[in-house]
Amino acid sequence: MTAFPARPALFIDGHWHSGEGRATHQVVNPATGAVLAELPLATTADLEAALDAAARGYPLWRATSVDEKAAVLAGAARLMRERMEIIATTATLEQGKPLAEARGELAYTAALVDFYAGEVRRNYGRVLTRPTGQRSLVIHEPVGPSLALCPWNFPILNPARKLAPALAAGCSMIIKPPEEAPGTAVLVLQCFIDAGLPASVASMVFGVPDTVSRHLIASPIIRKISFTGSVPVGKHLMRLAADGAKRTTMELGGHGPVIVWDDCDIEKTVTMVSAFKWRNAGQVCVSPTRLIVHEAIADRFAAAMAQRAKGLTVGPGLDAATQMGPLANPRRPQAMESLIGDALAQGATLLAGGERVGSTGNFWAPTLLADVPLSARLMNEEPFGPVALIHRVSTMEQAIAEANRLPFGLAAYLFTENARTANLMADAVESGMVGINTMAMSAADSPFGGVKDSGHGSEDGPEGMRAFQVIKAIHQH
Ligand code: NAD
Repeated sequence: MTAFPARPALFIDGHWHSGEGRATHQVVNPATGAVLAELPLATTADLEAALDAAARGYPLWRATSVDEKAAVLAGAARLMRERMEIIATTATLEQGKPLAEARGELAYTAALVDFYAGEVRRNYGRVLTRPTGQRSLVIHEPVGPSLALCPWNFPILNPARKLAPALAAGCSMIIKPPEEAPGTAVLVLQCFIDAGLPASVASMVFGVPDTVSRHLIASPIIRKISFTGSVPVGKHLMRLAADGAKRTTMELGGHGPVIVWDDCDIEKTVTMVSAFKWRNAGQVCVSPTRLIVHEAIADRFAAAMAQRAKGLTVGPGLDAATQMGPLANPRRPQAMESLIGDALAQGATLLAGGERVGSTGNFWAPTLLADVPLSARLMNEEPFGPVALIHRVSTMEQAIAEANRLPFGLAAYLFTENARTANLMADAVESGMVGINTMAMSAADSPFGGVKDSGHGSEDGPEGMRAFQVIKAIHQH
């Protein structure tokens, strides 16, 4: 059995705190149900101490030179790469994803942190020259001490995706990673600390999510909230933030429409959609879910997708042969049971999976359904698990109408060899991101985010740093 490599703890004002009389939460391996660690939960005094540190760390970090900020970020990226095996193994033990996926997540995370090491030097503004010699400057300043609330699906990426751009912008931060995968976040933060991040600039707390977020958002010290998670929680946090007129970035849920047109390369499309559907057992906000397929190729496409789903090796993430791991927590197989059960009861056709795998851990078979009525919950609620639906259409209007039917608007995908069809559809879908003949949505230099109920604001790219800044216009006569 692989030993658990991390020691989950709170990091406040430069000090690690474990236990010491605090309430604890058990960190559980989703592949086995075994307890990996006891996580200490922050007390009110801990949250106050983190706020105090963020208030002191902000002017200190804001005044730190561009060179020093860039060196901390570049150093953190280098240390992440050096510590790849220990961080990736911790992520797999806590969250379940196959080790190869955890390594890939770390490689992307390090590239993103490196990108922000460069972005520190590209904090460009505008100079407006006026005929009489007057000038206006438009500059970007840090928004101030910020709060990051992260989910469990990408335990390496999520904390760094918020911490690195906040630091690049000059902000201090309190970060609350998920209680379900805390050890990974601790190891990620340690890379920043070991790269020279001053003690008071970033604190990391864990606790009861609602208690922590209410307390920290209510503090006048916090000026910005960046959240990734579900739509209802995002809306709740926006209401809390509104009381203090605080800025928010909300990266919420989706229901990934994929339009598969009759002129696409079917084999390539099946390969790409399968790879991305079963990645992280479908627990990805941009996961492809509604496969909206032209009727001329629907049967062939469905049969090929089902064959791939049935051929996948499902098992513990540390097994080299595993292609899909367990779901991250017991809530997810319960959700699969209820959503898929409802769809089948309403007349859906089961093409693959549809059931738990084994009796220990949170394993669920890759599931493909067809003919799911629009009234089924699965056609309307984000499944956040290994299930995809084949939905037949015969016209482009029907395809677009189905893609835009739901209140979500995160990522949409189009598969067609016809450039005109691709352009028309890309313009017509209501989503923050569109993939044409690709499923890859994340690139360090490109914004990632949604519209409608999927949230607002962007992460990654220059926009990710701008999210932690405010604009000031200076007029000079
Ligand atoms: P959930 O809605 O209870 O929690 C989602 C996330 O929000 C978790 O990380 C949780 O710790 C956090 N959270 C919950 N209440 C909070 C509060 N009051 N204050 C601060 N943080 C809070 O659901 P869950 O069972 O953990 O996850 C399932 C759902 O969450 C999925 O169906 C999916 O919609 C969503 N989710 C989305 C993403 C994403 O990448 N957008 C990631 C993980 C989960």
